[in-house]
Amino acid sequence: SRTMAKQLAVVSLICLVCSVALISYSVRKYFRLRRQTEELEEQAGHDTLTGALTTERFCRDAQKLIEEHPERKYAVSYMDFENFKYVNDVFGYDSGDQILKIYSERMLEQLQEGELFCRSTADCFLSLRCYQDKEQLQKRQQQADNAFSNSDYLPGKHRMTVACGFCCIEDVVEQLDVMGLVDRANYAQKTVKNLSDSHYAFYNESIRQKMFGEIRIADQLKSAVENREFLVYIQPKVCPFKGRVCSGEALVRWQTQDGQFLPPDSFIPVFERKRTIGVVDEYVFEEVCRLLRQRFREGKPVVPVSVNVSKIRLYTPDFVKVYTDIKRRYGIPDGVLEIEFTETTACENLEYMGEIVDELHKNGFLCSLDDFGTGYSSLGMLKNLSIDTLKLDAQFFRNTLNIEKAQLVIRGVIGLIRKLKIQTVAEGIETADQVKFLKECGCDLIQGYYYYRPMPALDFLKLLDKNGGET
Ligand code: C2E
Ligand code: MG
Ligand code: MG
Repeated sequence: SRTMAKQLAVVSLICLVCSVALISYSVRKYFRLRRQTEELEEQAGHDTLTGALTTERFCRDAQKLIEEHPERKYAVSYMDFENFKYVNDVFGYDSGDQILKIYSERMLEQLQEGELFCRSTADCFLSLRCYQDKEQLQKRQQQADNAFSNSDYLPGKHRMTVACGFCCIEDVVEQLDVMGLVDRANYAQKTVKNLSDSHYAFYNESIRQKMFGEIRIADQLKSAVENREFLVYIQPKVCPFKGRVCSGEALVRWQTQDGQFLPPDSFIPVFERKRTIGVVDEYVFEEVCRLLRQRFREGKPVVPVSVNVSKIRLYTPDFVKVYTDIKRRYGIPDGVLEIEFTETTACENLEYMGEIVDELHKNGFLCSLDDFGTGYSSLGMLKNLSIDTLKLDAQFFRNTLNIEKAQLVIRGVIGLIRKLKIQTVAEGIETADQVKFLKECGCDLIQGYYYYRPMPALDFLKLLDKNGGET
């Protein structure tokens, strides 16, 4: 029995050693796994291109820092490059990437303890910063931005501009989480984006009012459609040679229930940001179809009418189908309805735009390129886009330092466009001199206050009764 006891002791000892080994192995494995997970998390929490935090990680860490340090003054800033798309388009994606990296380096260099920096989307960055006073906060940001703008890595001496909005927690009345602060900083940023004189804005009471105003507008869309508060105005386009109205452009207005009369600039950008603008576009289009059907039924003269379609509606896959269905439902013949899309919309995806234009043509729509002269104004793109009409934006005829040169350009552009068998429309024409010059250039149609302002659709139809239509 003594040997038995001895054997037992040995066995227990072995067991003990084994268990200790096993436990220590498991513990080691546990820690190794945990470290790996942390590393993975760490990687996942960082943007691979720039090393900045991801949005999710930024929100989590920022929330923690803000909660743990109530004694600190914190601000969230939202930075966005102006014309970043241009850099990608003109210099290529590698240059675009390089620029994002350089900016992140400048920002990360500047970061102090308890501060964060994040790349939110393509060329949008966020940061959480501590500050004593706002002036100093802005100065630090400006330093990083200037160091970036002046760096030589940028191709072709191209200068990048950063627009930045700050939201200081002390200025926020509501209880907001980090995402709420980011929204407000973003909103402040938008108030200075593409301004030439100032690139920095602080969220404040007036921006708050504006923001809530937009939220109110955005929320009213559904009821506005139900109550038929959107009105269709039509602005005649006049052929300067015949002196007759040869077509019209439908332009939306909003008559709110409380009696306000809103121009499109005050609500279209809001619906565009909310991506609900398609509802308005379609509403206007259907109203135009309704009016035209009535005209055809009455056997009265008709001219082509164009409608504006925003980028968001145009890039929705069912766009051509829905518009064609409406056109058919109202029995509108081919060649009467014209779709206007802007130069910037077309530039964004030329190949796709080409397909859309072909589809529209197949279904009897005319296609018009709007606001030519406000974007890249690439005449080259007309090779690949078989549009029917090109609208020269009013900007072409304004802000000219050298009138002779400007006239040369306009004459050349109109001449070229006409050779391409594309109809030309000059927009925003207000004076007799402009009309005279455009006639000399051979411009097909003129749309502007010189002839007519946009008018209620019924007035436009009355005008056609007198004028005698075409088609
Ligand atoms: P747009 O399509 O370029 O329309 C021409 C704008 O120029 C109209 O402004 C018109 O009233 C204005 N205009 C015409 N002639 C003159 C002139 O001689 N002088 C001046 N100063 N202005 C002139 P409106 O009606 O305020 O529309 C502004 C913009 O809103 C339109 O620019 C278009 O981009 C957008 N829009 C209007 N209706 C719709 C719509 O139903 N859907 C979409 N997506 N956008 C629309
Ligand atoms: Mg237009
Ligand atoms: Mg236009």
